[in-house]
Amino acid sequence: MSCFDPLKFRQQFPLLQKTVNEKPLIYFDNGATTQKPQCVLDAYQDYYSSSNANVHRASHVLSARATRAFEEARQVVKSFINAASSKEIIWTKGTTEGINLIAASWGESQLKAGDEIVLSYSEHHANIVPWQLVAEKTGAVIKILPLCDNGTLDDSELTGIITAKTKVVACAHISNVIGRINPLEKIISRAKAVGAITVVDGAQAIAHLPLDVQTLDCDFYLFSAHKMFGPTGVGVLYGRLALLEQMPPYQGGGEMIQTVSFAGTRFNELPFKFEAGTPNIAGIIAFAEAVRFLKQYQRQAFRDYEQALITYMMAKLEKIHGIRFIVAEAPDIPVFSFTLDGHHNHDIATALDSRGIAIRSGHHCAMPLMEFLKLSGCLRLSLAPYNTFAEIDAVIEVLTSLVRGEGAVDGYKSEPVGAL
Ligand code: PMP
Repeated sequence: MSCFDPLKFRQQFPLLQKTVNEKPLIYFDNGATTQKPQCVLDAYQDYYSSSNANVHRASHVLSARATRAFEEARQVVKSFINAASSKEIIWTKGTTEGINLIAASWGESQLKAGDEIVLSYSEHHANIVPWQLVAEKTGAVIKILPLCDNGTLDDSELTGIITAKTKVVACAHISNVIGRINPLEKIISRAKAVGAITVVDGAQAIAHLPLDVQTLDCDFYLFSAHKMFGPTGVGVLYGRLALLEQMPPYQGGGEMIQTVSFAGTRFNELPFKFEAGTPNIAGIIAFAEAVRFLKQYQRQAFRDYEQALITYMMAKLEKIHGIRFIVAEAPDIPVFSFTLDGHHNHDIATALDSRGIAIRSGHHCAMPLMEFLKLSGCLRLSLAPYNTFAEIDAVIEVLTSLVRGEGAVDGYKSEPVGAL
């Protein structure tokens, strides 16, 4: 295994040093959002205390400073994913907004009745609902790729599903519930063969896999900063330049225009054409710091450590009485989804919370997947490289005692949990 020190890595995350319910926090909900290192928090605060101004607008020093940092952030992301041009990096507020932008802009201008949009059973709602909205408006039809028993997209019948009628193939690089890497190469190559565009939801993959969008050869790739140690409210839409150039604006307003008159408006060049209004400047600058932070580490060192966590966790989970994994094979990233016979998911999650352990229970914004699996929901433990073997031992010990019925939560009152 390459040299990676998870304890040193962990020390950089202030919230991980805290207690919750008077117990040291064990944070196993990284699929929902990751914690933030001190350097990202500092970059956020520093922007507001030393350069706060609007970008691309004024001629004063602060605006120049803010604009420089803001556009540097775009370069940092461009090189992180190996995009061919910084014009291909569009700031959004997250993966969800990125997919909505493509569905509304590309979809509404290009799709017509009878055209087909191919999705899969394991998509997050963010990669289903925007396509349903555009299908309703245009008369396009949604088709669904099935899953293999191991949880990945089934690529054995691609020619029957991705056909000359297919105009869009949109799927996740990695499902937020299953944690397996999907066979994107085959899917993208089949989509290209029929002239369909490819949209990859990279929300879960981005923190775990190195990404080279030119090698992957997709048309669009979406991700959220908050799932890779960056702030919430920032996302990236990578799009192939030729497609972005053809697409109409998504929203209108300041920044996305060159000239406006009542006779008509000329839109700005890329990437600004898709960035109407004042962006999340502080968040974007802090996100660049998160990317720099990640780049200090070898991605392979993370992967090796995560693989060790997966092997260790699987061996321990398998011994728990009544556990049912939603897919039998070990995941490719440390995301473990299962139910426990005779126990409600929410009861288990609440009992873990009482011991300072944060996990997720529910449908995980993947109701069609739950229906496909004939489940109402499941438990999900999702780990990051700051998690440790000792934390796994602690969680397994609590889970084992709960399954044995030793887990009465005396007098414990959880803080209210919102909609799952
Ligand atoms: N797709 C997947 C696979 C996800 O896991 C998530 C977040 N849970 C999203 C899309 C949506 O991301 P965001 O809420 O940051 O827009």
